[in-house]
Amino acid sequence: MQNVVLPQGADMIEHNICYFDNNATTRIAPEALDAMIPYLRDFYGNPSSAYSFGVRAAKALEEAREKVAALIGATPGEIVFTSCGTESNHTALESALATQPGKRHLLTTAVEHPAIIKHCESLQKQGVAVTFLPVDSAGALDLRLLEQSIRPDTAMVSVMWANNETGVIFPVDEIAAICRHRHVLFHTDATQAPGRLALDAPKAGVDFLTLSAHKLHAPKGTGLLYVRRRTKFQPYLAGGHQERGRRAGTENVAGIVGFGRAAELAMERLTDMDTRVRAMRDRLEKTILSTVPDTRRNGGEPRLPNTSNIAFDFVEAEGVLMALDQLGICASSGSACTTGSLNPSHVLSAMGIGPERAKGCVRFSLGYYNTQAEVDCVLAHLPQVIARLRAAAPESAAARQPAMAAAGHH
Ligand code: PLP
Repeated sequence: MQNVVLPQGADMIEHNICYFDNNATTRIAPEALDAMIPYLRDFYGNPSSAYSFGVRAAKALEEAREKVAALIGATPGEIVFTSCGTESNHTALESALATQPGKRHLLTTAVEHPAIIKHCESLQKQGVAVTFLPVDSAGALDLRLLEQSIRPDTAMVSVMWANNETGVIFPVDEIAAICRHRHVLFHTDATQAPGRLALDAPKAGVDFLTLSAHKLHAPKGTGLLYVRRRTKFQPYLAGGHQERGRRAGTENVAGIVGFGRAAELAMERLTDMDTRVRAMRDRLEKTILSTVPDTRRNGGEPRLPNTSNIAFDFVEAEGVLMALDQLGICASSGSACTTGSLNPSHVLSAMGIGPERAKGCVRFSLGYYNTQAEVDCVLAHLPQVIARLRAAAPESAAARQPAMAAAGHH
């Protein structure tokens, strides 16, 4: 368990947490923090300044660019630093529309992160046609339907590499091949993939790829957009000449330095993720499914090795999460951005999971810093938490059974 100090009023409270929400954000790696500190404290020059104090910051930026490029098999010149995954996603969509004025259609999926879906919805209000492809009950796409949905005026196809709620992985290389064959640009939101899957953007054949630093043990406030060499590109933010004219705004030097160091660590730790972390996730999932009645896993294979989304029938996820929170366990009911909204997850709805069941789904997402003891801690408490909530439910589980059966997977 990691020891964190929470500032609370005047007191500092020592608090043990079991963190199972690594798809929402991740703990900063101490190595990344150490690499950043000199650029926060000492070398604060503007990387665009010509004097050597600025050049020092620019050099750190370029070193980090090489490291993040290596993480995705790209060359440094193909990396544009941004402020977050959301900005990278918007930039890719807007660039495709701006560089191809005759093309006013976007093709994406119903299970993208709101950073894509909401922006597509606002583009629809500006007259852009958007197709949101459905998924099946396992969360998979029909690639024949994808190909059939490409139109002569399709400016870009945007499909995430891995889903943040279920961990379901999409066949990005096959989608890229379809897009190449049909001469359509392809963007993938790979925010959940680095450190969990080996990534090679040029080999996969994508034109644009989004990453966000805070999902791989680097700080919040930094992201990147991979823009394949010789791809037509229009900046989203206009202004200064930063990022070789591709993204205006002074770069977050320290954050980017942390991003670079975290990218190196992510590559070194890929085997650990695929063995130790995967085994912990599997143990957590299998034990929950076998010891807590009326549970099932959401999302088929292939799946990220760290993610487990579980439906607990006859309870509300919010109640489960509050009870876990009191025990110091952090998990989630879907993407953090929809927390607090009463609507069931759009991802689970798209998989045909009815609102009754979707409201009882909890996502556990593991990471490098999780331990077997933390898994034990969840397993020690969760069955009682669920049993207590079910017993306290206004209607008994039995009374709700018929409705639940009707609301199940299709
Ligand atoms: N895309 C996916 C798949 C995500 O999971 C997230 C964050 O949860 C984002 C985009 C948004 O990233 P950011 O928080 O860096 O804007």
